[in-house]
Amino acid sequence: MMSVSFSRKKLSSELIRIGGVTPFTTIDYPGELSAVLFLQGCPWRCDYCHNKDFIERQQAASVGWESVLDFLRERKTLLDAVVFSGGEPTLQTGLSEAIQQVRHLGFKIGLHTAGVYPKRLKKLLPWLDWVGLDIKAPKSRYSAITGVSHSAERAWESAKLLTNSGVDYEIRTTLHPKLISRSDLYQLVDELKKMNVRHYSVQKCNTKYCSDSNSDEQDFVSLDQDDVGRIGGNFSSFEYR
Ligand code: SF4
Repeated sequence: MMSVSFSRKKLSSELIRIGGVTPFTTIDYPGELSAVLFLQGCPWRCDYCHNKDFIERQQAASVGWESVLDFLRERKTLLDAVVFSGGEPTLQTGLSEAIQQVRHLGFKIGLHTAGVYPKRLKKLLPWLDWVGLDIKAPKSRYSAITGVSHSAERAWESAKLLTNSGVDYEIRTTLHPKLISRSDLYQLVDELKKMNVRHYSVQKCNTKYCSDSNSDEQDFVSLDQDDVGRIGGNFSSFEYR
């Protein structure tokens, strides 16, 4: 019988910086019991980011990679999947190696990304089982949300790669109270439709993370049943949460 060997590189915190771990969750990878690894650092600055503790790249790693692997080995029979989240996980140069080491332990691999680095995402796709990709706005509104020019091109290139890859995915949009209007949302839905996106969700913005958290409630875009029907009719699956 042919034996297949797997050589494992040691990953330092310079290559894979873990800011935190959720040991068990049912909501971060659809239909799977998973652990979530929060990778430290993101080059974008969305006001509504609910993981602000993980934005700064230089923050010290709170968990070493070897400890993460030990933890996962102990839970092999309890968990189905491991989700790499952040921050922006594709920022990390050791991500591909880390993913392969976790796959080798027998877990499915999920990725949460804002599509910041499409070329890196393309290289990772063969190792991924499911991707949750944030598409934050129609292209014209993107930099107002991320604080970074040309962020739209990167995110939309990632969406194109993902939807053509055959990897399971969900594209999701957070409805920021002031940065996305109802007409922006419908424009976004048109753009997604043209790209043949099939799985889409819209999530309400939790404004407690926003610098303008005292926004008047009337500023909020919220979807009614009619919106849900009109938007959902464009996709194979749609969720408003
Ligand atoms: S891209 Fe994601 S992690 Fe980065 S600042 Fe925006 S919401 Fe936060």
